[in-house]
Amino acid sequence: MKIICIGRNYAKHAKELNHAVPEKPVFFLKPDTALLTDNKPFYLPDFSQEVHHEVELVLRVSRMGKAVERAFARRYYDAVGIGIDFTARDLQRECKAKGLPWEVAKAFDGSAPLGGFIPREELPDPILFRLDVNGQTVQQGSTADLIFPFDELIAYVSRFITLRTGDLIFTGTPAGVGPVKQGDRLQAYIGERLLLDFEVR
Ligand code: MG
Repeated sequence: MKIICIGRNYAKHAKELNHAVPEKPVFFLKPDTALLTDNKPFYLPDFSQEVHHEVELVLRVSRMGKAVERAFARRYYDAVGIGIDFTARDLQRECKAKGLPWEVAKAFDGSAPLGGFIPREELPDPILFRLDVNGQTVQQGSTADLIFPFDELIAYVSRFITLRTGDLIFTGTPAGVGPVKQGDRLQAYIGERLLLDFEVR
């Protein structure tokens, strides 16, 4: 399986990192070794002094798809979950300054904690989600604010990369990203359902 991540999909987050709102989706990949499941703790890596949380809704791909038409894109994911796209912001800044790829800042071990999923049919529209750190809400999002909605992401990404059952698509983070430190407890919710709950060590 592969993990496809969308960057800059909420205007306010693009702005907080001083980026223009993109005209087409930006995406990158994480390897399966980035996954962190079962609420296991996240260990801060020694190569970064500034690991940021980015809470994101995650699509679970449920069938193979290549060049999927937008009108049919809903058939290609069956559930939406929540995860964190951990980002070594200091390393990412270096990459950006040099025009280099971001993998070193995005694809490291444990950089994709993943919580539970809710079947697509049970989800409200829009979907509200949030991240609490140590009991304080730090990020809140709504799918009403997506620059590129889910169906458009499926259509766009599948023009370049064949989607397979079990692939995951992290759909971008809303504003409020920030650093995590040892001892932090991260809890991510869709609506009022706690789906991800883990500690930083
Ligand atoms: Mg992200």
